[in-house]
Amino acid sequence: MQDPLPPSRDEVDRAIRQAAALIRKASHAVVLSGAGISAESGIPIYRGATGIWTRQGEPTIDGWELFNTDPERWWRLAIDHGDTELSLAIARAMPNPAHIGLADLEQLGLIQHVITQNIDNLHQRAGTKHITEIHGNRLKVRCMNCGGRDRLGTISLDRMPPLCPECGGILKTDVVMFGEPIPEDALRESYRQAAIADLFLVIGTSAVVYPAADFPIIAKRRGAPLIEINPFETNLSEVADVIIRANAGEAVPAIVDILRR
Ligand SMILES: [Zn+2]
Repeated sequence: MQDPLPPSRDEVDRAIRQAAALIRKASHAVVLSGAGISAESGIPIYRGATGIWTRQGEPTIDGWELFNTDPERWWRLAIDHGDTELSLAIARAMPNPAHIGLADLEQLGLIQHVITQNIDNLHQRAGTKHITEIHGNRLKVRCMNCGGRDRLGTISLDRMPPLCPECGGILKTDVVMFGEPIPEDALRESYRQAAIADLFLVIGTSAVVYPAADFPIIAKRRGAPLIEINPFETNLSEVADVIIRANAGEAVPAIVDILRR
């Protein structure tokens, strides 16, 4: 199949105005964000021609199995291999105009929640407060017993594996590993948001992977309009009410400009 012609400037501008009008009208707007939004901050993507997994191979579930059988060894390996390409990129990355624009929209009371597949903490660094991270956060640890989360930097690594200060359970880095189930609290909150959203924005993700793929569809089935911001066509494009074929770093600030007037 041949790629469709790129949209004209007029088409992009019209879609941005339509999106702004829908956001202004909504009372509970929910965003799902993915790798595309952070790629603009220099975070490498996993899949695609230049993806880490394409070049280095997809991770296996060995890590998750090892964590379950020998968490002490898993932690020692994780500490030894801490400086991976992704970790370095996350350490260097800064929030971009898309992250900042979404935080502005929350501040203006126009966006109520962000569900993100990203682990890089950039939404929070931009100022977003109401957020659910379905794949965890690179800077945090999570207790495998009570689900509590702490900053990685605040826990003692003197004892291996490190234990939860609240309940004594074994701690793991918060990032969800291959083969590991999505944490229950994050899953529950995401479904709750999809169930109450009256507008849903999908930004920088093709949303084909479970469970993220469910959220926009659940909202859409309940009648919430769907806005897609993505330079590329996705599986959701067919059902989206407004499609902005542009980078998030261009589209989101343009929406904020309209809504600030
Ligand atoms: Zn605990």
